[in-house]
Amino acid sequence: MKVLMIDDSPDALAVAKARLAKEHLDIVTAGGGVSGLEAAHHEKPDIILLDVDMPDMSGFEVCRALKADAELCMIPVLFLSGATTPEDKVQGLDLGAVDYVAKPFDAFELRARVRAALRTKHLQDLLMEHAHIDPLTGLPNRRALMERLQCEWARIERHGGQMAFIMADLDHFKRVNDLYGHHIGDKLLQETARAIADQCRENDLPARYGGEEFSIVVPDEAAVSAVHLAERCREKICECCVVVRNETVKVTASFGVADSLNLSSIDEMMRRADEALYWAKEAGRNRVQSNAVASLPAAPINAAPSPWPDQQPANQ
Ligand SMILES: [Mg+2]
Repeated sequence: MKVLMIDDSPDALAVAKARLAKEHLDIVTAGGGVSGLEAAHHEKPDIILLDVDMPDMSGFEVCRALKADAELCMIPVLFLSGATTPEDKVQGLDLGAVDYVAKPFDAFELRARVRAALRTKHLQDLLMEHAHIDPLTGLPNRRALMERLQCEWARIERHGGQMAFIMADLDHFKRVNDLYGHHIGDKLLQETARAIADQCRENDLPARYGGEEFSIVVPDEAAVSAVHLAERCREKICECCVVVRNETVKVTASFGVADSLNLSSIDEMMRRADEALYWAKEAGRNRVQSNAVASLPAAPINAAPSPWPDQQPANQ
């Protein structure tokens, strides 16, 4: 695990580094508050040891900046300070630090406190991971999806560019559950999730939106490319099957695609993808429809007929 030490005293950095040598940590250092914040950004350490008294920025100011930064706020901070009145400790802990170690530090105590903070960080990382994964399919869940959408949208607002969004819904999935039971329905959801994930690039984010709905965040692409991705997913989903007592249960999916071009919010992009999905259902299911402002010829693209007789209302 990686430790970032921020201290204006080269001697203090050398001592702390020597004290932690036995812990097999990757240790990086910064000689001031400003350079420390920069290092936190590009090193993404697991823990930060932070001196309180520094000339350019106090440790308290650095801690405040870390806690206000969405990308860095979860990194545990341990204050290191020579001047430790109870008021200092209270101030440091109230700012969100996990611990406060007095200088000159005892080697054993410093190591033990760093180990304790790293254990907590590890558990926190596991919890965060679990909070973002759908347990049935192993795909990122809706929370992870929304966070990624916000992150990509912020990136576009800062640097320009584009993104696309795909919404998918399994066709007549309720019938699978009714006819064969949820056990089989769950297996088909798992197969579908795998089929979708297999088609995605490393940078795409496939997610289980909820129930039998899936979605994909497609960074840096317009709807035209996302339509091709959706089409590949649609084909692969047609190949998914579960065998129940000599019967092969299959499923198809309908897709709606939108992109960020000429739109002003994530909600608008999601609403447009949802509309396109509705049109795909209306047009007979098992197909991809695009609803991008700037994009052209809208689907249906190579739509294969649904294996289900089409008697249900369109929004299922
Ligand atoms: Mg100092």
